[in-house]
Amino acid sequence: MDAAEVKQLGASLGADMIGIASAKMLNAFPPDPRYPQTPDRISSYVKSVIVIVQHIPVAAFRAKQNIPVQYIDMLVLRRMDKIGYRLAEKLEKRGFPSFLTAAQETDWDYKKASYGRLSTRHLGIEAGLGTFGLEVNILTPEYGPRVYLTGVLTEAELEPDEIMTEQVCIGEGCSRCLYSCPSDAVLHFGIDKRACAVEAQEFGYMQITKFFNNFIGKSRSEKVADLKSRDVFGFWQGLLRVVGSFGDCPRCLAVCPVGNDYHAYLAGPQKHIPERTPEKEAKAKGYKEARKNGEEIAGLNEWNRRWVGPEGYKGIVARQLKSFKQRQREREEASGYS
Ligand code: SF4
Ligand code: SF4
Repeated sequence: MDAAEVKQLGASLGADMIGIASAKMLNAFPPDPRYPQTPDRISSYVKSVIVIVQHIPVAAFRAKQNIPVQYIDMLVLRRMDKIGYRLAEKLEKRGFPSFLTAAQETDWDYKKASYGRLSTRHLGIEAGLGTFGLEVNILTPEYGPRVYLTGVLTEAELEPDEIMTEQVCIGEGCSRCLYSCPSDAVLHFGIDKRACAVEAQEFGYMQITKFFNNFIGKSRSEKVADLKSRDVFGFWQGLLRVVGSFGDCPRCLAVCPVGNDYHAYLAGPQKHIPERTPEKEAKAKGYKEARKNGEEIAGLNEWNRRWVGPEGYKGIVARQLKSFKQRQREREEASGYS
């Protein structure tokens, strides 16, 4: 079985995009060498990781509230798991033991934050599917950051895809993700995970422990009131994985101008960013200056540049927009509406 066959199989099962990363490279370049998220720590037999991408349907980002994105996120994850599981099953039948990783897991022994055994964003980048954005989401040229990823760990030795060296993210001059972030969590090719969790995991683990820490010391009547609060209902929904436990805040995804889905459907509704403030503008300006002056930036150090795109931004979004508009014109001409 070769890489092309595997990709065809994945596409026939419904994957939007597929890339392949070699376990050797993933073992050699863990996202953070202090807490190595590597296939080797899971199984020393794994030779390749097949990375599956599912995009989040764009209509949800045109809605007035966040609820549609939150629910669709769950559906996308379930669908992606099914595709990955079936792909692993088929590979095993062909003689290559394979299994699926949990896309949203956290291993408490690695770091005290959401930090899985593998980083799916890094898997995607190593599989040549995109590069980091300023907010350290993976940006795919096709759908920007509006994607979820998972990995099938396989004992099949497959030809890996080449990592992208061109930066997909427009960078500090854009900073739209930074402007839109309600908790100001976007750093310079980095993220303040705790600040992000307040919005993105409104009823996630951190909020549950905080709630019960406060709850313990309260009077009986306060406890009764607390148990009837919106928070408890949110925890219940989150635990059922309906909405609320993660992926609650779609703002940095919605406003990112990378991807044809943005050009086609989001450029209008997401043009204005109501959360933009002079303070955030100053922060973005500072980041731009720091990069221009070659200052030391953790997210862009020698180790991390690999995933940002070491060649820097060379206009991929402008090229993409140009070809998108060209295709639009051709379609209009063909339909006689020009
Ligand atoms: S998910 Fe929301 S809170 Fe988190 S970085 Fe993006 S915009 Fe900020
Ligand atoms: S919004 Fe702009 S700066 Fe942020 S990730 Fe997207 S392209 Fe990069």
